[in-house]
Amino acid sequence: MKKIGVLTSGGDAPGMNAAIRAVVRSGIYRGVEVYGIYHGYKGLITGNIKKLDVADVGDIVQRGGTILYTARCEEFKTEEGRAIAIQQLKKFGIEGLVVIGGDGSFMGGVKLTQLGFPTIGIPGTIDNDIPETDFTLGFDTALNTIIDAIDKIRDTATSHERQFIVEVMGRGCGDLALWSGLADGAETIMLPEKKEDLDTIVERLNRGIERGKKHSIIVVAEGVGSAYDVAKEIKSKANMDTRVTVLGHVQRGGSPTAFDRVLASRMGSKAVELLLNGDKGKMIAIQNNKIVAHDILDLLTKKHGFDENLYTLAKELSI
Ligand code: ATP
Repeated sequence: MKKIGVLTSGGDAPGMNAAIRAVVRSGIYRGVEVYGIYHGYKGLITGNIKKLDVADVGDIVQRGGTILYTARCEEFKTEEGRAIAIQQLKKFGIEGLVVIGGDGSFMGGVKLTQLGFPTIGIPGTIDNDIPETDFTLGFDTALNTIIDAIDKIRDTATSHERQFIVEVMGRGCGDLALWSGLADGAETIMLPEKKEDLDTIVERLNRGIERGKKHSIIVVAEGVGSAYDVAKEIKSKANMDTRVTVLGHVQRGGSPTAFDRVLASRMGSKAVELLLNGDKGKMIAIQNNKIVAHDILDLLTKKHGFDENLYTLAKELSI
């Protein structure tokens, strides 16, 4: 293999740039040319493709977002769209592809692999919702952004003796809520994986107030529903006023943490190594601090594991 491509697809995540840098430099180090494909699969169809040199990925390891931009592309989901994409790849002489994105993007990669075009995936999403990897790229950075925000909210919660509800991202996965709730000592963490009766939550809040607690933080994963609805229900059940903060897209931005930069570097390099070894249809993962690879079709039949021990610990520490 003499030429490989790299693209980012789906939602952006901090650490994607560090992964692009790693793919480009590991490729060049191993003697292959690396092409950046802009705007995800859309750029593959329109031919928005450019050769990247060592200097093109300088000064990006610390930057959030993705220099290759990202997009969702309906046309790529059609056979016709993919046929055009293959033509473009052939035109540029690209023989293998690294896709940095979520499970949807990996399905796109698998379809290319089935058409005889080797693809390797790198899990890039703040949600940490991909099976068979302990962490996805961007999760740690988003987590630290949330913690920083909740620390600030706690200052005002304490000063005004108020109850705050903070809604965090994660879609169907509660990891951002669980980890941030534990790290921030939230009184209650509401997760899609562990639906808790609101009466129980209100009871716990009241117990705290009776004990002399003047404020509390409730972290709500977006997969549970709207924090505003939770606030309304608490008001109607307990006549308790709360303040709501929806952190929103601020969680997707920012300079990646050291953990995400190192993870991106390790995953990017491994992706190139696999492609050059003739591997295809696999996703790079981290498990027990080891960089490994799993068959994408196989892992997409699984669900991201929920950490029961962490949940139990969070409950134990928020009595
Ligand atoms: P995120 O988790 O951030 O949403 P994602 O990779 O899951 O990221 P999707 O919107 O599901 O995001 O997919 C990104 C793109 O991947 C789609 O716009 C489409 O171009 C391609 N894609 C998704 N699913 C398929 C599929 N089944 N077949 C072919 N291409 C697909």
